[in-house]
Amino acid sequence: MQLTDPQRRTLQQLIGTGERPVFPADLAQRLRDRIEGAARSLDLPDALWLGKEKLNDLGRCEGSFSSKIAGEAPPFEHGRASATGVLQHRAIEVVVGAREPLDPHTAAELSVERTVEKEERFAEYWAGLPAPERDDIQMEVVRRTILFEASFPPLRELRRELSPATELSVRAELLGGALVVSGKLDLLLGAPDRLEPMRATRIAIDLKTGSAYPQYAEDNRLYALVLALRFGVPPFRVASFFLEGGTWQAEDVDEGTLFHAADRVVEAARSAAAIHNGRDPSLTPGPWCGWCPRVQVCPAADPDARSSGAEPSVVGSAGRR
Ligand code: SF4
Repeated sequence: MQLTDPQRRTLQQLIGTGERPVFPADLAQRLRDRIEGAARSLDLPDALWLGKEKLNDLGRCEGSFSSKIAGEAPPFEHGRASATGVLQHRAIEVVVGAREPLDPHTAAELSVERTVEKEERFAEYWAGLPAPERDDIQMEVVRRTILFEASFPPLRELRRELSPATELSVRAELLGGALVVSGKLDLLLGAPDRLEPMRATRIAIDLKTGSAYPQYAEDNRLYALVLALRFGVPPFRVASFFLEGGTWQAEDVDEGTLFHAADRVVEAARSAAAIHNGRDPSLTPGPWCGWCPRVQVCPAADPDARSSGAEPSVVGSAGRR
């Protein structure tokens, strides 16, 4: 297969072709034991769902975390960024899953059609947009699809070798469902090793536009944990891939990565249980107050965020992550 230099770089250096690590067969059970052992005695709020956004909230301010656990965030509504993101991921799915090669414009059109068919909230949002704005968003999806195809080897042609999956929702239920850890993976590549199932053959990739943020590494470690709990074997690598530059930040997964992520989950469960049982959350104001549901009522809120009149905003996607 003929590849451009950036595609070859992604294939050889990020996806990689070398030896994959083999993890112990009891790994998932030990991770489960670590979380359940610490959380079993906690009086948790009902069905505590933890994903990357809530864990990041906790890292910024326990008050903000508490507000999300209490369900104070307004219901999700699509905006331009979320709609573009949903369409972008669907366009990549269309390109990868198509019987025949598709150009980015056709992929973007199909992406809109299928998303309108499948997602009611998106369909409502899309129907309410003026035509020029729809065209503008669709062109952004075309641009990102072009960047994706320029960066990755043709995944449609490598379906057998790489088993690409996009927008894969994964969750692990712990303590009989009292604690759920979840994530939605932008792109998962790698076919399982049927002969040696504990060989880690997959890479989980989060596609990004814009700059790198420190929390991306923690998000990726959480994805590795959720995959390890759900599949029994973790990915061998997790990465954030930056579409504009075709660059990435990657981390090879080892047990330290996974237990670190498990301990963040435990910390969040402890915090949620303590607040549920009456402890006041510790407040740490900062720029993030601008998107906290409590910004207008919190005594510690960052004055700049409060005076900016920032409306409580929804961070993230339409699904629980
Ligand atoms: S307004 Fe700021 S300080 Fe108050 S709970 Fe929200 S994030 Fe924390």
